[in-house]
Amino acid sequence: MIKKLVFASHNKGKIKEIKKMLEPYGVEVLSGEDLNLEDVEETGTTFEENAKLKAFAAYKETGLPSLADDSGLCVDALGGRPGVYSARYAPNRDFEKAMQMLLGEIAETKTNDRSAHFSCFLVLAEGEDKCSVFEGRVDGKIAEQRSGTGAQGFGFDPIFIPNGHDRTFADMTPEEKGSMSHRGRAFAKFIKEVFEKN
Ligand code: IMP
Repeated sequence: MIKKLVFASHNKGKIKEIKKMLEPYGVEVLSGEDLNLEDVEETGTTFEENAKLKAFAAYKETGLPSLADDSGLCVDALGGRPGVYSARYAPNRDFEKAMQMLLGEIAETKTNDRSAHFSCFLVLAEGEDKCSVFEGRVDGKIAEQRSGTGAQGFGFDPIFIPNGHDRTFADMTPEEKGSMSHRGRAFAKFIKEVFEKN
């Protein structure tokens, strides 16, 4: 059973979330920040590749089981963009601007198709070339306009409405979003496989 785990991220929100999720299993979670891990350049062309790059780099540096994730928003009318480039789509990480740009791009296509999904790949590296991959996805649509600020909402949350709902992720509580989100689903699979088997 894993007792000490590296989470190769500098994102405070994600670190807090995973520490909370793993609390019941008595796992000590060390973040990229705790260990002063260098930021790894996301040179992959898929979420899985980028998550592997980050997880293996952390494993190599620490020798400890290392977890990393990569995620993004894929819009059908834009051929799956921004996808792996979601974080970089926002000029200077300004997501207000990014959402305006995305709504503008969809309008330009003159399509009524607003379908989209968030995807998350989570990779646990436990050896030089030994890893497990957990995938989470949530399908939905892009709202006509932004809605909600959601205390924990970030990125494209205010313009994404998951299927079966009429509110955006930013209109939901963190718990509600987490119960259906791409990241929540990938983490649930990871926990089930690694900590709840047997
Ligand atoms: P990363 O996985 O931290 O590299 O995040 C990639 C980017 O995808 C973020 O900067 C956001 O633009 C977008 N993204 C990923 N997950 C979410 C989410 O749950 N809500 C809103 N945007 C997200």
